[in-house]
Amino acid sequence: MKMIWIVAFVLGTLFSVTTQAQTKSRSKQPAGLQTIKLEDLKKEVYAMADPHFNGRGAGTIDELKASVWFAERMREVGIAPAGDDGTYFQFFSMQRHRISSSSSISIGGRNLKLWSDVLITQVAPAQVSAPVVYLGDAYKIDFNTLNVQGKAVAVKVVPDGINRNVSLPEWRYNRLVMNKYGNELLNKGAAAVIFISDEYGEQAWPYAMENLILGSFANEGANLPPTPKTPVLWLHSNASQWIKKEGLVLNASLMLESFTYPSVNIIGKVEGSDPILSKEYIVLSGHPDAHGIRNVIGNDSVYHGADDNVSVNVAMLATARALKKYPGKRSALLVIHGAEERGLIGSRYFTSHPTVPLSSMVAVLNGDMIGRNHPDSAALLGSQAPHRSSSDLVNMAMEANAEGPQFKLDTLWDKPTHVEGWFFRSDHLPYARLNIPSLMYTTLLHPDYHTPQDNAQNIEYEKLLKMTQWIYRTAWKVVNADRRPALEPNFKLER
Ligand SMILES: [Zn+2]
Repeated sequence: MKMIWIVAFVLGTLFSVTTQAQTKSRSKQPAGLQTIKLEDLKKEVYAMADPHFNGRGAGTIDELKASVWFAERMREVGIAPAGDDGTYFQFFSMQRHRISSSSSISIGGRNLKLWSDVLITQVAPAQVSAPVVYLGDAYKIDFNTLNVQGKAVAVKVVPDGINRNVSLPEWRYNRLVMNKYGNELLNKGAAAVIFISDEYGEQAWPYAMENLILGSFANEGANLPPTPKTPVLWLHSNASQWIKKEGLVLNASLMLESFTYPSVNIIGKVEGSDPILSKEYIVLSGHPDAHGIRNVIGNDSVYHGADDNVSVNVAMLATARALKKYPGKRSALLVIHGAEERGLIGSRYFTSHPTVPLSSMVAVLNGDMIGRNHPDSAALLGSQAPHRSSSDLVNMAMEANAEGPQFKLDTLWDKPTHVEGWFFRSDHLPYARLNIPSLMYTTLLHPDYHTPQDNAQNIEYEKLLKMTQWIYRTAWKVVNADRRPALEPNFKLER
């Protein structure tokens, strides 16, 4: 009896608290919130991250197919086409440069097989013939007395003072090693730099190889073909044995080849209800591409990119769908940018060939990876100086969080000193550089980032739902605000 009474009392208390809370939050509840459903998000994540799209690699037929699939979802919910020629699409070309397989490298007459014996870290031509000097372990170098002018300098990499706790060690590690020793050797006039791998270099080798073979990508016509550069090479750790020998000469003949690939932005719009404000847009941004088919990890070779970035695409679709059903005053432009993973190619293209005037874009809500990690935490990039483009916009997002999901927000990843440079790695960047108030929603990195295990099964759907609600709540404030979010005084991105 007693027990039951206590339970009844507790339930009664809980019930009244819940009812009050519900009444309170319902008054702040934008109408379209109820249209955002976990089952829809889940169904669409499974469909777009399906293995038959082969990882939607940028510039491949798979990216184009998935883009057409996404445009069909936009059509289904009545989002109007806003790309070129009355379609949902804006096609563009990207250029790829890579080291040609007719390049050659030899040291002391020993021919080195490209990629398996030697990694070439720059995508630039070079013709070098230079004597090799071996300096031993990197920490023993005295840069003050060093004279390496015209020499091919070999150094054994040591991990001391190198932050290995970064994503993508395959290329970030190389960058950190360059910062620590490599650039100094180049400044001193080295004719080439030869790094001899430590154990971390060896571990990263297969992944580094894959990326370095791929080469570099850029918007067509955006930059001239790469000019000659001093070669920076990596050898396996056993090279420290044979490279010590006196009198060795490095001969390197590096040549480039170039290709052009098509990619596409997917663009749709939802009209606002106000005759004047509907000429302004909130931009909802994602990217369709992932990493295609690559090295096998955990018995899978399809890099599905479910978190990166299908999670965001379906969240933005759901937001646009809610705004279609319950329009706000301003209009919304949904832009899913092609070839993000190859260097923000689609967003760079769209901001230089916008299908609505740039001046009509009042804010950009971009997202990258919003469906993983702890259920109660997230990050909002562009919320702190010097990345904060608009306090008005940040305030709207913060209020939306307080009224809705109440995530604990990370404050470290938005800092310019953060090793990952996360703020600079997604599609809001070209907009922010043009002084359009911009934010990036993310639930940050995880061990499945850029692996085949970033798949639909590993998404936390409850969390994705809450992130989507947060984005929609922010969008609802932006489209209905009396004044568009003001740009921060003197805002200018430095990097
Ligand atoms: Zn991404």
